[in-house]
Amino acid sequence: MALKVKVDRNLCIGAASCVAVAPNTFELDSEGKAVIKKKDGTTTSDFVNYSEINDNETNIEHAAKSCPVNAIIIVEVDEQGNEVRQVWPS
Ligand code: SF4
Repeated sequence: MALKVKVDRNLCIGAASCVAVAPNTFELDSEGKAVIKKKDGTTTSDFVNYSEINDNETNIEHAAKSCPVNAIIIVEVDEQGNEVRQVWPS
């Protein structure tokens, strides 16, 4: 099973709980919205494969669950990268 995570910037209120829980995965950008830190040094709010993140599955899940507005979306994808189901918010 492969997982991807993204931030819905329209929902994010910059509460930064995700940054506190998983600082290796999330940071706030200049607009005060959460972005995901990739292994290559870039950041994005769009979907990122867990394999491109320097963090473990549990930390990313805890961060998503800590978001007060459920702005962190986790989906399971198949080998082709197509979404199979939404894991969080469940
Ligand atoms: S916890 Fe949620 S609202 Fe707060 S910065 Fe992270 S994604 Fe945004």
